[in-house]
Amino acid sequence: MLGLGLIGGSLMRAAAGAGREVFGYNRSMEAVAAAKFDGFDATENLDEALGRAADRDALIVLAVPMPALPQLLDHIRDTAPGCALTDVTSVKGAVLDEVGKFGLLQNFVGGHPMAGTAHSGWSAGDAALFTGAPWVVSVDDHVDAQVWSQVTQLALDCRAVVVPARSDEHDAAAAAISHLPHLFAETLAVIAGEVPLAFALAAGSFRDGTRVAASAPDLVRAMCEANSEQLLPALEQGIELLTRAKETLAATGSVADLVETGHAARMRYDSFSRPEIITTVVGTDNWRAELAAAGRAGGVIRSALPVLGNQG
Ligand code: NAD
Repeated sequence: MLGLGLIGGSLMRAAAGAGREVFGYNRSMEAVAAAKFDGFDATENLDEALGRAADRDALIVLAVPMPALPQLLDHIRDTAPGCALTDVTSVKGAVLDEVGKFGLLQNFVGGHPMAGTAHSGWSAGDAALFTGAPWVVSVDDHVDAQVWSQVTQLALDCRAVVVPARSDEHDAAAAAISHLPHLFAETLAVIAGEVPLAFALAAGSFRDGTRVAASAPDLVRAMCEANSEQLLPALEQGIELLTRAKETLAATGSVADLVETGHAARMRYDSFSRPEIITTVVGTDNWRAELAAAGRAGGVIRSALPVLGNQG
């Protein structure tokens, strides 16, 4: 586990709780000391961690913010280029490009657990963070069946449900359900912060609508800025919808269009079904496209799928 913050620290706890052998690296001595104090195997020596990963043929998990990836990938290329590799980064296309630059695509399968809190660091970690959460495991064209099933098994061991998706489709969806909400949350917080009495009256609506504005600004910037290609059209659409609502409110006194369309979309979300994906055999012809289509339709993987050529 490279990075023992909220996500890496939670993953380390969850994986160990599932009975897996797990060891980690973090650049700060404080986090390493805290992890060791809690009984985990951690070091601040990256080359030592990677050397050990290479010896054990470990699955390496990149659990650092996007800007830290090149530095880690550089060391992985030198010390553990044969290890299976995944990540937890909130954007997938930019990570794919970065991994490709270091020639490590062959053993790489991108991941994104859709779980988190506004807190950071080892102490914020929680073994139960991923329980029931969707965890995207990418099914891009290059993806190897064996590595894919290793990454999927890790997510299942952490009690997540796996959503197979292509990186570009993940990024368009993440812009809509995560990155745009971050920008709207910041906007709502800024507006309320300038209105006298607003904080004194603020209750559930403000709390829920601005919850993610409490996240560390560096992390929010890292994910929004790394996904600008998908975030820009989503932002454009948001501004258009608000502009239209402003115009109808000013001209006719009504915000009916936005409120009714928004309510209908939210109702569709509430009744969205999540059928289990059970029929795909990983590694057969077209398995990636089959899984991408199933994921798009709401399908999730709750237990390991058979892999072509593997027994059992
Ligand atoms: P965090 O701040 O809690 O942990 C980040 C970790 O990365 C820390 O251990 C830090 O020491 C390490 N790090 C930072 N810069 C580094 C560098 N230059 N070199 C080496 N290590 C470095 O953050 P987090 O929430 O665990 O985020 C980690 C990843 O998880 C990010 O890519 C983020 O996009 C992704 N993610 C976050 C959430 C969330 O809700 N916070 C959810 C899903 C995925």
